[in-house]
Amino acid sequence: MQLTIHNSLSRRKEPFEPLDSSLVRMYVCGPTVYDYAHIGNARPIIVFDVLFRLLRHLYGEQHVKYVRNITDVDDKINARAAAQGVPIDEITARTIAQFHEDIVALNVLPPSVEPRATQHIAEMQQLIEKLIEHGCAYVAEGHVLFDVSADADYGILSKRSLEEMIAGARVEVAPYKKNPADFVLWKPSKDGEPAWDSPWGPGRPGWHIECSAMSFRHLGETFDIHGGGIDLQFPHHENEIAQSTCALNTPFMAKYWMHNGFLQVEGEKMSKSLGNFITIHELLEEWPGEVLRLNMLRTHYRAPLDWTRKGLEESRKVLDKLYRAAGEAEAADQPNEAVLAALCDDLNTPKAIAELHRLAREGKAAELKASANLMGLLPVTAEEWFASTAPEVEVDEAEIERLIAARAEARKNKDFAEADRIRDELAARGIILKDSPQGTTWEIKR
Ligand code: AMP
Ligand code: ZN
Repeated sequence: MQLTIHNSLSRRKEPFEPLDSSLVRMYVCGPTVYDYAHIGNARPIIVFDVLFRLLRHLYGEQHVKYVRNITDVDDKINARAAAQGVPIDEITARTIAQFHEDIVALNVLPPSVEPRATQHIAEMQQLIEKLIEHGCAYVAEGHVLFDVSADADYGILSKRSLEEMIAGARVEVAPYKKNPADFVLWKPSKDGEPAWDSPWGPGRPGWHIECSAMSFRHLGETFDIHGGGIDLQFPHHENEIAQSTCALNTPFMAKYWMHNGFLQVEGEKMSKSLGNFITIHELLEEWPGEVLRLNMLRTHYRAPLDWTRKGLEESRKVLDKLYRAAGEAEAADQPNEAVLAALCDDLNTPKAIAELHRLAREGKAAELKASANLMGLLPVTAEEWFASTAPEVEVDEAEIERLIAARAEARKNKDFAEADRIRDELAARGIILKDSPQGTTWEIKR
């Protein structure tokens, strides 16, 4: 089946034609590791995991290479280490372990390679040397800067003119820059900051060169797909393209650029100051990872996503329903065609989920399971799902039946206050009563 994806370079959906179908290559910008990952960070992780699974399905597991890096050298990491008075390595090791724990709970596959920036300093320096050699970078006051005026294609991704970029204020003005839009490839380190020897003095890399070096090292000069959140389009991805194409003399870096939309929480931008900043870790204390995963995929990846408690509750109900339909069935050999077609249409996960509902309605358990698995959903059996998600309620059935009978008696005597009291008492213990003409039944609140 033909995969089409929305390419941020052309701003259009395009048929996906890999450079080499014997090895489809994808790079996604990973986390900067100084603190727990928040639920916004989980969006690219989950979205590109679905794409990774789909590519593996279409081209074969051995024919897809997915690289997702870890940025473990960054000013935010240095600041955090200084504030806590602990070594930088301790902050990064702890954060990486936590990140892995979180995303395993989201049923995210490990990428083929997970390179760390600090292990690729030599490759970064080689690229920087090439950039200087090619007249695209210059040395000033211990810094090496990319010279945007040397790159006629600068702005190709974000479609901004140089004036707009400078006015966009996300560029740092500094006296040693020839042009305010020039960006740092290498910078000197102060005492106590991590530093590596280099031809330009001891220092550390800028953020953008890290991804150019790691993608080059693991995927080659050009590759198929580069992904990340929409906030990275400018300047990060624009700068990655400039660095890679100018250093390697290539016409492009990645053929397709994909960007996920932003996630907000209960209608507001997530921020520490608003107090609505939620980590994956916190959410996992309350919700099964699969609920978070499904909740993420119910919105198309390019659309803005409003993360709400109501949405999570609905997602849990959807999973209950799908698991009930899937039961203990073994997955069919192939996913359903309509689910596959939806995913091949620029990862239309909301449509794919609607098709899962249809399969559930039609009682096609094996196909439902195979199709959900393709999206990383329904990885366990219904029995395991309900056992793991059932709340820990002590149920004494005889006691509940006795209280239901007492409530019926109270209602018969028109003692509605007592009847309500009994209902509330049970509710407080997590037991919900359902009245119908056939009598009263109960269930455990979820
Ligand atoms: P960072 O650690 O901030 O560099 O972000 C890691 C990844 O998470 C990047 O691909 C970002 O674009 C993405 N990201 C960060 N915040 C959000 C958000 N609120 N919604 C969606 N993606 C986000
Ligand atoms: Zn990157």
